[in-house]
Amino acid sequence: MKAVVFTLGCKVNECESDALIAGLIKRGYTVSDKLEPADLYIVNTCAVTAEAEKKSRQMASRIKKLNPNAKIIFTGCAVEKNPKSFAEKSADYLVTGTFNKSKILETLDAVGERVSPPCLEYEEMETPKTLRTRAFVKVQDGCNNFCSYCIIPYLRGRTRSRNPKNVINEIRQTNPKEVVINGINLSAYDYNGLKLVDLIKSLSGLDTRIRLGSLEVRVIDDEFLSALKNLKNFAPHFHLSLQSGSNAVLKSMNRHYTADEFIEKVDLIRKYFKDAGITTDIIVGFPTETEENFKETISLIDRVKFSDIHPFSFSPRQGTVAYKMKDLPAETKKQRLAVLLEKKEQCKTDFVNSMKGKVLDFLFEELKDGYYQGYAENYLRIYLKEFIPDGNIKKVKVIERYLDGALCELQGE
Ligand code: SF4
Repeated sequence: MKAVVFTLGCKVNECESDALIAGLIKRGYTVSDKLEPADLYIVNTCAVTAEAEKKSRQMASRIKKLNPNAKIIFTGCAVEKNPKSFAEKSADYLVTGTFNKSKILETLDAVGERVSPPCLEYEEMETPKTLRTRAFVKVQDGCNNFCSYCIIPYLRGRTRSRNPKNVINEIRQTNPKEVVINGINLSAYDYNGLKLVDLIKSLSGLDTRIRLGSLEVRVIDDEFLSALKNLKNFAPHFHLSLQSGSNAVLKSMNRHYTADEFIEKVDLIRKYFKDAGITTDIIVGFPTETEENFKETISLIDRVKFSDIHPFSFSPRQGTVAYKMKDLPAETKKQRLAVLLEKKEQCKTDFVNSMKGKVLDFLFEELKDGYYQGYAENYLRIYLKEFIPDGNIKKVKVIERYLDGALCELQGE
């Protein structure tokens, strides 16, 4: 029997899909993540933007076109938000939301709509089986922040954290070359009083490269950075979601930091990790964003010098506070997005230039279009012309910008 698992959206969805893949393999399925003939399809959906939700629904049409008799399970945030729109696609679909994902495979024979009740405690799933080199390890779910534009707290429920022993066991059992520690709001990690910094300290004996998922600036302080510095395999890459460089916009987004605090934290990171990759997400065209506010975002980008930015247009999500605000004209959002996409390119080029001649640690992921590709510790995308993959991390020297990363040369042992 064959199953295909499609994953849209964030790394937490990736973690949960990996656990589903492990369960499918246990049940005798061969599993793929490509659109190809199969007995069963699982679509792990995303609702973070209207576009992501649309793509999640379109997946059903693409699968049905390939295999009209396909049995499809939809799960994830878009289903939690709008179960009917998925159930209506076909009477055969089994639909579940964001909770009780661990039970999906137990109900493979069920038919009809099932949106599960909220979980109040962290839900353990199968030990994941990843189809990638990097393993995503989920340690936290849910969010209490209620940023005014975000639908996720309504779909994933309140924050809950995973027992650190189970985190360590999963990493030991799967023994990947790199783990990415993830959560919906990783910074809110709190397991019976143990915070994220305590979790990090407990990972120090592991022999795997450790990367962190998205962080809030409030967790960045000397204690936190010292704990990371003491991890012998820490990958110095910090994804700090900025969203806006304007204090007025941050306030209307219900984000609890100022532009100055953000800059201060970035400076502190660079005190500990000079060559850290610092990436961010930025929303353009939030309803209250004026031209002046947008310029403040641009000047913060110029000041911080991110290694990469992920800009996206504000997308009103029904049920959120910002949904009731007057949306900006589409043309304004388009123009601001275009400016940020240019800034993104400039950030990438400047970062590669600052790395030129430096030696980084490369973890191979795939051979594509004639290049051996993967990531350095600071999340610089690496391209190598010649390489013999043996599963180990290798030293490479940065030569120049290439596509979304850098062309590099392999260094001697
Ligand atoms: S921190 Fe804000 S943006 Fe992130 S999941 Fe929570 S509410 Fe959404």
